[in-house]
Amino acid sequence: MIAILKQGTTKEQIDSLITWFHTQGLEVHVSEGKFQTILGLIGDVSNVSTDLLMGLDIIESVRKISDPFKNANRKFHPDDTVIDIGGYKIGGGAFQIIAGPCSVESREQITGIAKSVKESGANFLRGGAFKPRTSPYAFQGLKAEGLEYLSEAKKETGMPIVTEIMNINTLDLFEDVDVIQVGARNMQNFDLLRELGHTGKPILLKRGLANTITELLMSAEYIMAGGNEKVILCERGIRTFETATRNTLDLSAVPVLKELSHLPVVVDPSHATGVARYVRPMALAAVAAGADGLMIEVHNDPPHALSDGAQSVTPEEFSSIAKQILEVREVIGR
Ligand code: PEP
Ligand code: MN
Repeated sequence: MIAILKQGTTKEQIDSLITWFHTQGLEVHVSEGKFQTILGLIGDVSNVSTDLLMGLDIIESVRKISDPFKNANRKFHPDDTVIDIGGYKIGGGAFQIIAGPCSVESREQITGIAKSVKESGANFLRGGAFKPRTSPYAFQGLKAEGLEYLSEAKKETGMPIVTEIMNINTLDLFEDVDVIQVGARNMQNFDLLRELGHTGKPILLKRGLANTITELLMSAEYIMAGGNEKVILCERGIRTFETATRNTLDLSAVPVLKELSHLPVVVDPSHATGVARYVRPMALAAVAAGADGLMIEVHNDPPHALSDGAQSVTPEEFSSIAKQILEVREVIGR
């Protein structure tokens, strides 16, 4: 349920209403927009009388919200969420590119790639240190050492770093990480999501291989219910009957997510297609579809990459893609 307050309602009036909602066992999400304050009520609202609320002179209207996600819902929070990460904003018209290798492989590799993608216009550096691999015999990531190399690359370039967590037991190692990624395979690891809700770190939440948009939003809700509102949603392709690409990029998820939620939406055309030469067209399409950012895998030597070489573009290709991204942004006015 949401209660839209009349313009001119004082802070004291709002606070006393919130206190009353608390006595009813409800949590209250406050959204202060430019013109209106909206109170989102979370919990069992079945005993809250709409008529009673409408009788209060500070209330303009009351609406029941049937969507299962509340904190992530645009109805609770009409304005786009803008997340500031190390001075770089994402969401609400602010666009960012996250680029880097699938896996951190060495100090030289990550720092070298960081410098080149930064020069091409990426503000964020990605690189996996803990890798969720289909095969237990495949490269599993450099783990703590990989995180150290990422930190060094951050120090050298000033780029905030984005890297995946697989197990909450490793959280202490993520102190210097700016954005914690939850991979597709962990999108419904609810214990992990709940714990991340108690951190103050922005979370990049990737859509699961076989998950619906509502399920993605419910996973965001797990994080937000713990008090962490800094969630970035990521569409990275879903599994369909098609085999020509690694996954099928569900681009329509972008406008749908932007309509349903106020959270920033990023598209990962690398995992979505699995093919380096398809990354450019899908990256451009994602920008045109209204994405708030892109995550692109870049490797200095794709044929010898320790993971996801087939979908990794070279730094030169990335530079050319980044230029076209700018052009598309100019055309669509974002
Ligand atoms: C990755 O970003 O390298 C990754 C493993 O992504 P996903 O979880 O989307 O497969
Ligand atoms: Mn990868």
